[in-house]
Amino acid sequence: MSASCTRTANGQAAMIPCAYCHGLFVPKAPGQRFCLPKHRAAYAREIGIVGATVSVRRLRTRISVTLHTTDEAVLAAPLGAKFRLVREP
Ligand SMILES: [Zn+2]
Repeated sequence: MSASCTRTANGQAAMIPCAYCHGLFVPKAPGQRFCLPKHRAAYAREIGIVGATVSVRRLRTRISVTLHTTDEAVLAAPLGAKFRLVREP
């Protein structure tokens, strides 16, 4: 999202809905999706990481799935963190 998307015609900052609580807030940075850091963490914990698979391959005893996402919350997850993969319609 560019800065121009978060400005109204008269130059005032536009309010957008928080992706977690749906409450309106004014983003402080381009691409900000959550009104509070704890809502970003809650979204990552309860909703998960949304992305697209770009690679799936069979290993000896497991299957490797590579996901591309723009959700930076995944950067805070430790290696070995477990995710549930849910296919969207
Ligand atoms: Zn929120």
